[in-house]
Amino acid sequence: MSNATPCVRGRFAPTPSGRMHLGNAFSALMAWLSARSASGEMVMRVEDLDPRAQSRERAELLMHDLEWLGLAWDEGPYYQSERAELYGAALEELSARGLTYPCFCSRAELHAATAPHASDGAPIYPGTCRELSADEVARRSATRPPAVRLRVPDEDDPAGTIEFSDLAFGARREVLARECGDFLVRRSDGVVAYQLAVVVDDALMGVNQVVRGRDLLGSCARQIYLGRLLGYEAPAYGHVPLLVAADGRRLSKREKDLDLGALRERGVRPERIVGALGAAVGLCEPGADVTPQELVPLFSWNKLAARHGDVIVDERFLARLF
Ligand code: GLU
Repeated sequence: MSNATPCVRGRFAPTPSGRMHLGNAFSALMAWLSARSASGEMVMRVEDLDPRAQSRERAELLMHDLEWLGLAWDEGPYYQSERAELYGAALEELSARGLTYPCFCSRAELHAATAPHASDGAPIYPGTCRELSADEVARRSATRPPAVRLRVPDEDDPAGTIEFSDLAFGARREVLARECGDFLVRRSDGVVAYQLAVVVDDALMGVNQVVRGRDLLGSCARQIYLGRLLGYEAPAYGHVPLLVAADGRRLSKREKDLDLGALRERGVRPERIVGALGAAVGLCEPGADVTPQELVPLFSWNKLAARHGDVIVDERFLARLF
């Protein structure tokens, strides 16, 4: 047996739903710095599972923006839209083991006010379709294609308690039955769910470090659980702050004047953007123009773990950009 520590393999996993905005650039920079500061590698995976996100043009723009910022990768791009067979095989394996069931509930039904909701506001699946008879499934399938859910262990079954340590948020413990309940692994339109695709991809691509926005921290337990069922080792997770507007709203694609296309058009240099993003989490001095490479020796998870809350894109932040 070799004692060699496996090389860190991180990934970029953008969804090409629009032009890259500052928030995506920040998460990408942190993922890249985390891997590079450990002399690791990066994989590029375009998450275009959803037919609405299947735009090669937008994917290419995203990749150009990353390269322009100075964030290169070593492998890929892989496109999720070309990997349906791999996800289908994983889904089949779970189903053959009796771990899944068809679900006919609509989104509106699930958001009904009476259902309990998890901490992030998402409804916890109440198990409505868990015990449908084969006749009932056949009858309902005739009028409505079902989604597919994964059964999670009951609340008192230790298999459903997931413990892990996040590089920034520290020790976490989540009980699947309380956090989300039985969750979707395939949507009713036949598209495999994000949770399953990401687990299959990270494992098959040898990704052992997942760095992304803290909005996905709540997905970890589901992903670790799915990985266990499929015999995969869990990657390390590190969740980074989000970029929010001064009023606390999340910076999003709606903030068009802050997407990378707009910033480039205004003549903002990549070193200026990287400097502003790095300074926002204390990696460099405010006002510095730096390359990602120059931030490599300055990066540490301790610095990210020590800061609380999101990055506020206020007048002061913007003044450093323009
Ligand atoms: N594709 C997701 C996004 O762009 C990221 C998924 C992940 O990092 O696990 O938000």
